[in-house]
Amino acid sequence: MTDKRASELSRRQLLTLVMQVSAVATASMAAGCAKNATSAACYDADEATESDVQLRSTLNYTDASPDSQQVCGGCAFFQPAKEGGGCGTCTLLKGAVSPGGHCTSWSARG
Ligand code: SF4
Repeated sequence: MTDKRASELSRRQLLTLVMQVSAVATASMAAGCAKNATSAACYDADEATESDVQLRSTLNYTDASPDSQQVCGGCAFFQPAKEGGGCGTCTLLKGAVSPGGHCTSWSARG
């Protein structure tokens, strides 16, 4: 093998290595974003009672409403956090709810 050919092989290996490192870095960043999105959620089902989980499931509660016109923040049952910030509460559900959340009991604030 000539020096030039050995050098090309090294460049090829180097490019492959750079691409692999980039892919790993991108995957790590994506995993970090997903973790942040989860930790930003208002409700932790692992700390809720079974009846709370069941009620949320029955009402199809979600932290992200599929309809921007029907979000917890605009619902008659929503109580904003006293100290401001993200999560509020709902008079129908125990625990925190997201202002951007939704469930099938949504009712426009009067
Ligand atoms: S009733 Fe449903 S939509 Fe209204 S605040 Fe509670 S969880 Fe949100």
